[in-house]
Amino acid sequence: MKLKELFLAALYPEDVACCVCNKEAVLNSHGVCRACEELIVPAPGFSLSEAVSGASAGIKYNDAAADMVHRFKYFDGRYLGKNLASFMTLPQEWQADVIIPVPLHPERLKERGYNQSLILAGELSGRYGIPVRDDLLKRIRNTLMQSMTSREERRANVKDAFSASKRCRGISIILVDDVITSGSTSEECAKALKAAGADKVYVIAACYAGGQES
Ligand SMILES: [Zn+2]
Repeated sequence: MKLKELFLAALYPEDVACCVCNKEAVLNSHGVCRACEELIVPAPGFSLSEAVSGASAGIKYNDAAADMVHRFKYFDGRYLGKNLASFMTLPQEWQADVIIPVPLHPERLKERGYNQSLILAGELSGRYGIPVRDDLLKRIRNTLMQSMTSREERRANVKDAFSASKRCRGISIILVDDVITSGSTSEECAKALKAAGADKVYVIAACYAGGQES
């Protein structure tokens, strides 16, 4: 364990509090207590637009998951990235060169202090040995919060919001998002990556909220 990791472990003791209810208990390998285990439901299979060669998510975005994601994103719950990422499994057939997080606009990044998708990407990178590149895809428009918009608005909101580097040419990419709802954000990212010459783009998220939007 590196010094920095030791320091973080002291700040955020793991295996003590359940990542769902926050109570101290005996935890499973995802950091979930027995009482909360049944609240966490695997995400269903789904597919996205033709720019996306494969899509997968860890858990269903229900109330328990939403509470976790909320703390992860808005209440400096960076430590929850490890728990959320533990539900994400890359399908064996996804052969990728790099992992790219869905980027935040620089202004949003400044407000939040961190990109939650980069934290998830880092966890997957450590587990699968695929490098993370957060310099190949940029958000060039500061879009509205997707959670506030309807399906049609979501599409319009993220249209042409991303720009990918020509260094994506010929490489296969795993794009990491925190929550997929309509899929419009990751589809738009995939479109930009493909336009820059990427070979294949796969999408994985911690949670899938499809069919739950208004
Ligand atoms: Zn619990």
